[in-house]
Amino acid sequence: MSALPEVDLEHLVEHLVKLLHTPSPTGDTEAALALIAGWLREMGLAPTFTRKGAVVVRLPGRDDTVAAPRAITGHVDTLGAIVTQIKPTGRLVFDRIGGYPLYAVNGEYCQIRTADGRVYTGTAVLVKSSVHVHREPVADKEWKKDEVEIRLDAAVTSAAQTRALGIEVGDMIAWDPRTTVTETGYVKSRHLDDKAGVAVMLGALQALFAAEIQPAQRTTFHFSNFEEVGHGAAAGIPDDVAELIAVDMGAIGDGLQGNEHAVSICAKASGGPYDLGLRRRLVALAQAHAIPFVLDIYPFYGSDAEAALRAGGDYRIGLLGPGVDASHSFERTHRDGLLASTQLLLAYLLDEG
Ligand SMILES: [Zn+2]
Repeated sequence: MSALPEVDLEHLVEHLVKLLHTPSPTGDTEAALALIAGWLREMGLAPTFTRKGAVVVRLPGRDDTVAAPRAITGHVDTLGAIVTQIKPTGRLVFDRIGGYPLYAVNGEYCQIRTADGRVYTGTAVLVKSSVHVHREPVADKEWKKDEVEIRLDAAVTSAAQTRALGIEVGDMIAWDPRTTVTETGYVKSRHLDDKAGVAVMLGALQALFAAEIQPAQRTTFHFSNFEEVGHGAAAGIPDDVAELIAVDMGAIGDGLQGNEHAVSICAKASGGPYDLGLRRRLVALAQAHAIPFVLDIYPFYGSDAEAALRAGGDYRIGLLGPGVDASHSFERTHRDGLLASTQLLLAYLLDEG
């Protein structure tokens, strides 16, 4: 078993933080995809865009006569929201993009991007936030849509004044990621799902580039932009691919083994079991390279690998990624999990299969 190329973890975290600071709610991902395409070009690669906007780059394999091409997918789109109504008070009603409870954004800062490119800030607040005005217990329940609104940081008290700012139904809302890297190695941020996975893919590409080595098989890297709504990798994966790996967050919580210091290998998610042979190979590779890993079943989880299968893809699928705590809420992972995930991805890429 040959040693894996060195992973530049500082650079990986730098990429991750830049991505986290680039808003990309599903449906408004262009800036983040352009950032990724730019980094790929710096590595001497020639990325292309699919018609629905995903970034795709193809690496030749060491031996293209062994015809079992592979694809790796990770998604840059994140949870977000969209303006559905401007209230008579000038505040905004919003619809969620992606799956999350409203308590996960109560009090959260956000940006609203208008059709003409202006950006305004605001905060998601309960309509009855002020305890000096409202005495109903609002803290201990799950809020309904009409109980939460966006308060704009602009002096508006009517719908007409809000419209005069250029804000209109359909404007995209991005939640503040609150990205923080702690001295203890944690990355705290919204949207680690799946910008952490994208950073892992970039980290693996960077390691191959620095060591001047090629993957064992021809491998397509697919940076997806519609995963959170279920059809990201339904297009853009080459037809002749034999294996498709999604690099996406490992779930953490009651009854699961996942943690922020290891790579999670998924055995089964909501859509059913992942390919058994591929999963066992990933486990064997983690063991052979002494990479900290866990095996897990994710109770409520769909991935882009599943989306690709449902779209008619004929390949074996796998799923790996860093453990992410409090997913779709106040997420956190650790440098250890990012490193372990990148190492396992590299081990897979270099393995003959
Ligand atoms: Zn995800």
